[in-house]
Amino acid sequence: VVVRPSTTEQVSRILALAQEHRIPVTTRGAGTGLSGGCIPTEESLLLSTERMKRIIEIDSENHVAVVEAGVTLFELDEATAAHGLRYPIQPGEASASLGGNIATNAGGMRAVKHGVTRHQVLGLEAVLPGGEVIQCGGKFVKVSSGYDLTQLIIGSEGTLCVVTKATLKLVPRMTQRLTLLAPFENAEDITRAVPKVVHSGVSPSLVEYLDWVGMGGAVRRGGADLSIPEEMKQKAKAYLLVVLEGNDSNRVQEDGESLGELLLGENALDVFFLSESEASKIIEGREGAFWSGKEAGMADQVDVVVPRASLSKYVESVQGIAQAHQTFITFTGHAGDGNIHLGIFQNDPKVFSDVMGEIYDLATKMGGMVSAEHGIGRAKKKYYQKLEDPVRLALMRKIKAAFDPENIMNPGVVFDGQTSA
Ligand SMILES: Cc1cc2nc3c(=O)[nH]c(=O)nc-3n(C[C@H](O)[C@H](O)[C@H](O)COP(=O)(O)OP(=O)(O)OC[C@H]3O[C@@H](n4cnc5c(N)ncnc54)[C@H](O)[C@@H]3O)c2cc1C
Repeated sequence: VVVRPSTTEQVSRILALAQEHRIPVTTRGAGTGLSGGCIPTEESLLLSTERMKRIIEIDSENHVAVVEAGVTLFELDEATAAHGLRYPIQPGEASASLGGNIATNAGGMRAVKHGVTRHQVLGLEAVLPGGEVIQCGGKFVKVSSGYDLTQLIIGSEGTLCVVTKATLKLVPRMTQRLTLLAPFENAEDITRAVPKVVHSGVSPSLVEYLDWVGMGGAVRRGGADLSIPEEMKQKAKAYLLVVLEGNDSNRVQEDGESLGELLLGENALDVFFLSESEASKIIEGREGAFWSGKEAGMADQVDVVVPRASLSKYVESVQGIAQAHQTFITFTGHAGDGNIHLGIFQNDPKVFSDVMGEIYDLATKMGGMVSAEHGIGRAKKKYYQKLEDPVRLALMRKIKAAFDPENIMNPGVVFDGQTSA
């Protein structure tokens, strides 16, 4: 059964009935999630937020937007543009809903400058399983008044409540953009250069890593013509894509030039300053890397995170895992955040599962986590439950029981089981 409420009051009535009859509820935003979190079980009610579409307010004095959960990133971007503002979190899929972004704590390419969803959400309206409506946070940055329920709900993947409205921080929309592309012969040089780029003081808004396979896919998908000489393409094992933004074109140009020098000093084969149209194409192609991988037979895409300075060691060790299991693995990712996307090409389910287990195990041992931005959902649950600290997991189960005593909210997502309230 699919229900498509258009008001908070309707969500409240649905959840009250669901709790009374102990019917599990899975909330679905736009269905673009990559961890299977919005896939219901057979006996579940699917609650779609697709009709909760109102942009309630763009407050240009407080730099805040108030939106319903079903508003998409694309719709919010269009609405904020008219005010010279922008919601700075831009995961690769603009058809995703803000409710889904909040439930997965989505990240994306601009996290290196603006953080992830949880850094830009000031407040929420949410409906609890019994139907009660709560308001948390508001149009303010500072708050020190009891537990922070807004932050607890962000990233909870529909397992605690249904988010119905959000109050989001906006930033001024920059007018100038400069995009640099640097090919490297050696992937390690890139990962060593990334912390230096981040510390250079130029504050890039995007620092992306693409191996040569990912680069080929992004060029094809976006239709970019980068004019990189063939000889250099043959040498280049990986590429670094950096975007600088600002309002003063001279300043952005100066920063770009000093960044170019820095990259050449870190063994870049060359540094290309891309035209606005080629830059848009390559970024679009990079955002669609998931689809390029799928078209080429990729079994899954992993979104692990490790400390930024450990990326090079992590990539090297994963190459060892790939070799040991005769599995082809591609590397693209949000290098500025230590968040790497591994495209796993392996059709044998047993080998696939072993490879995934080792990749996650390695990331955790290196001080990272199983998922940086896509969430655990159903797809990564078995790996996450094995690697998560049992004390933290037990605490999370108690928190879930406090919100959802009948265990009706997206049961079986993130972790199994529940202690009673
Ligand atoms: C091509 C492509 C590129 C992508 N790039 C990125 C990227 O760069 N960064 C990134 O972080 N993600 C990325 N994603 C993943 C995806 O877009 C995000 O996970 C997004 O946040 C999901 O939003 P959605 O509305 O589609 O949610 P859904 O897929 O519908 O749901 C995701 C989860 O959120 C829960 N949920 C949804 N709405 C609500 C609500 N109102 N209240 C409570 N729970 C709710 C669901 O139950 C489910 O657990 C990408 C996906 C694709 C296909």
